[in-house]
Amino acid sequence: MELLQRPRRLRQNESVRRLTRETRLSPDSLIYPIFIDETVSGTYPIESLPGQLCYGLDSLDQAVEDCLAHGIGRCLLFGRPREKDPFGSSAWAEDGVIQRAVRAIKARYPDFYVITDVCLCEYTSHGHCGLLQGQEVDNDQTLPVLARAARSHAAAGADMVAPSDMMDGRVGAIRAALDERGYQNVPIMAYSAKYASSFYGPFRAAAGCAPSFGDRRGYQMDPHNCREALRECALDIAEGADILMVKPALSYLDVIRACRDAFDLPLCAYSVSGEYAMIRAAGAAGAVDEHRIMCETALSIFRAGADMLITYFAKELAEAIRQGEIG
Ligand SMILES: [Zn+2]
Repeated sequence: MELLQRPRRLRQNESVRRLTRETRLSPDSLIYPIFIDETVSGTYPIESLPGQLCYGLDSLDQAVEDCLAHGIGRCLLFGRPREKDPFGSSAWAEDGVIQRAVRAIKARYPDFYVITDVCLCEYTSHGHCGLLQGQEVDNDQTLPVLARAARSHAAAGADMVAPSDMMDGRVGAIRAALDERGYQNVPIMAYSAKYASSFYGPFRAAAGCAPSFGDRRGYQMDPHNCREALRECALDIAEGADILMVKPALSYLDVIRACRDAFDLPLCAYSVSGEYAMIRAAGAAGAVDEHRIMCETALSIFRAGADMLITYFAKELAEAIRQGEIG
């Protein structure tokens, strides 16, 4: 009898509830995605992601200040370039949108931690994540281009690079290219277990990178599989990844847990655009309490084993942590 009552004793009072929490959240474990559009001045709302803005290169201070005001010190940058071609040349151009953005942010805010997304889909006219051979993505031809893009981000001052393309061998290619130019200390966050998911819909509208034909199932993972994620992670670790990532988060909590149990590297989860848009839409429709659902889903991702979370709710979550609602 006595034993059965023990858990209840630890729930009686707010102070002891907070003392015995198993999952801890901090603004330090949140990363905010920032979209930068080379073709605009000022900002514009991203229609598919209500409440999110796309920033022109002249509005980066606003983007960073807004993060800092909420206690968010880390971002992940995505670019919308002026020019696209079949080869994704603007992905590695010295004056590309991301390269310019990183230089500008780091000049003004040297302590603001900048992670860059490394992929070709935002920069190719066909919208695929790699170079094409006919209608197929050519994995091996794509590797040097990704490596060149990552190196140009590091040269601009990026603190970390995050390859999201899912080409085989890209972590090794990027690591070699970074090391060769003296960027040994720039870590690689690998999108290791990136699923071919319908949850990416709003992002593709925001980043303007929906494939013009076909889909990405040839290089992204099948949502039926979990063990395959472990193989992908093991390969990325062998190639020199510093942080592993599971994407999306909410429908893949089992994958997060499996990766957490199998590997000791830091583990990131990306709560993607569709997860955000769903919660916002359900909240707007009055179907759920948006704020509490946001908190609870973030908790579930950390409880599943993530060490850090990329989320469009980063600022609101930081505020919830500050208020003591979660954390
Ligand atoms: Zn891509």
